Amino acid sequence: MCVFCKIINNEIPSYTIYEDEYVKCFLDISQATKGHTLIVPKKHLQDVFALEEPFTSAVLNAAVKVSNLLKEKLGVTNINLLNNSGSLAGQTVMHFHLHVLPRYGNDEIDFHQVEHEPDFAKLDELYKKISS
Ligand code: AMP
Ligand code: ZN
Repeated sequence: MCVFCKIINNEIPSYTIYEDEYVKCFLDISQATKGHTLIVPKKHLQDVFALEEPFTSAVLNAAVKVSNLLKEKLGVTNINLLNNSGSLAGQTVMHFHLHVLPRYGNDEIDFHQVEHEPDFAKLDELYKKISS
């Protein structure tokens, strides 16, 4: 059984700050920033490709609730919602989870997205491939 399934079953402890029938939300053990929380569906679904209703909706609804809870209790006003699906994307626990990552002016998070000039020929080709 995976580590998050064990947390869901209360076989290992967690700092759960919100839960309902479909999700459990607990503090990330490594706190990338203060208040860093994981939203986890209460079914072992591996990643975004496996996510299904009613868990899909429950995850985003819980993310909004947790974000507002962190705003109310910690004064958080900046947040990244982040999912890593697949090991190349940085997924280390193979049970879908959404990171609620509060952001502060002095934090050490750096997503470092490279900006390119738009290439409309490539965009056109890509769009046709995806939408056909
Ligand atoms: P990811 O790299 O997106 O798969 O994120 C996995 C996250 O799970 C990491 O941020 C870990 O710190 C966190 N994590 C692993 N084990 C636990 C645990 N027992 N309780 C809380 N968070 C955990
Ligand atoms: Zn699991």
